[in-house]
Amino acid sequence: MSLEQELTKIPDCSLSLDDDLTKYTTMRLASRGDVVEIRSIESLQKVLPTLKKYGRNYLVVGWGANQILPTICPEMIIHLDLPFDLQYLNEQKKEYELPASLGINHLTSHAIKFGLSGWEVFTGIPASLGGAIYMNAGTNLGEIGKLIKTVTLVNGDGVLRTETIGAQSFSYRRNYFVNPGDVIVGATVMHFGSDPAISQKIKDYLEYRKKSQPLATRNCGCVFKNPDRDLQAGRLIDLMGLKGLTLGGLRISPKHANFIENSGSSNWDQFETLVNIIKSNMNVFYGIEFELEVKIPYH
Ligand SMILES: Cc1cc2nc3c(=O)[nH]c(=O)nc-3n(C[C@H](O)[C@H](O)[C@H](O)COP(=O)(O)OP(=O)(O)OC[C@H]3O[C@@H](n4cnc5c(N)ncnc54)[C@H](O)[C@@H]3O)c2cc1C
Repeated sequence: MSLEQELTKIPDCSLSLDDDLTKYTTMRLASRGDVVEIRSIESLQKVLPTLKKYGRNYLVVGWGANQILPTICPEMIIHLDLPFDLQYLNEQKKEYELPASLGINHLTSHAIKFGLSGWEVFTGIPASLGGAIYMNAGTNLGEIGKLIKTVTLVNGDGVLRTETIGAQSFSYRRNYFVNPGDVIVGATVMHFGSDPAISQKIKDYLEYRKKSQPLATRNCGCVFKNPDRDLQAGRLIDLMGLKGLTLGGLRISPKHANFIENSGSSNWDQFETLVNIIKSNMNVFYGIEFELEVKIPYH
């Protein structure tokens, strides 16, 4: 039996070969490859060892808001669509058991409704919960890692495990508990009580983001990590006069220099070239080695 035949026999998953992957990332660079959509944890527990048996590497894509995919993607894309009844968020709870595929925008709406203290930290970040945890996504209000109590993962052998999160589990835009091949399937999320002022704080922050980030364009969020808490990558790129620089269909955003916008006709090679131009300028002028925040396979 072939890999494709074995995968199509597994319940709760759909395999799509040579699919258009462009829609799987918010940057929308042209990309093609194979995708497996997974609708239950049990299915994932069967899919991952099957991929391993055939030596096929895989890449998890959540909302693709922090990923760039190559023109031809050799890895199997794993995309989770785990069941969740949104009615669960109709009332306030002490803590929440949530699937990794849930969009954190639903959590922000819930936080506005109930004034959940702590949940303002991920205001406006486009992400699945799994992607936000993997990246320890955050804003200048804080990071999501502080709110995570446990994370449940499936490893490449299909084994399910739960990690208890502590002070050492995260740092700036990274985690220390997801091993290569692991897929986050869910998490327990906490809050710090109710505070009516939080609802307004979130609404104000959403407005601020609309003004300061190019939210209506195709982009992948911040391309580079800030070299330091007080040294913003976007500010440094701006000071270099690189705002507005174009390469093919790509442009360094005039609104926020750490964002690269895609007018719709760009590819992976152009993105890499523009990133390298920015990196070498930063290196020459500031002596700073910029580190990528966006995930580019093979980097
Ligand atoms: C307009 C815009 C604004 C943004 N603003 C912010 C911001 O303010 N703060 C911020 O931190 N980020 C920001 N981002 C970046 C992005 O939203 C975050 O990094 C987010 O956490 C990515 O989540 P995702 O579901 O899209 O993950 P993806 O981009 O799909 O994946 C990111 C990484 O996580 C891994 N991953 C995803 N899901 C899983 C899983 N279930 N199990 C294991 N690994 C997984 C992927 O393999 C990849 O390595 C912004 C992006 C955009 C487009």
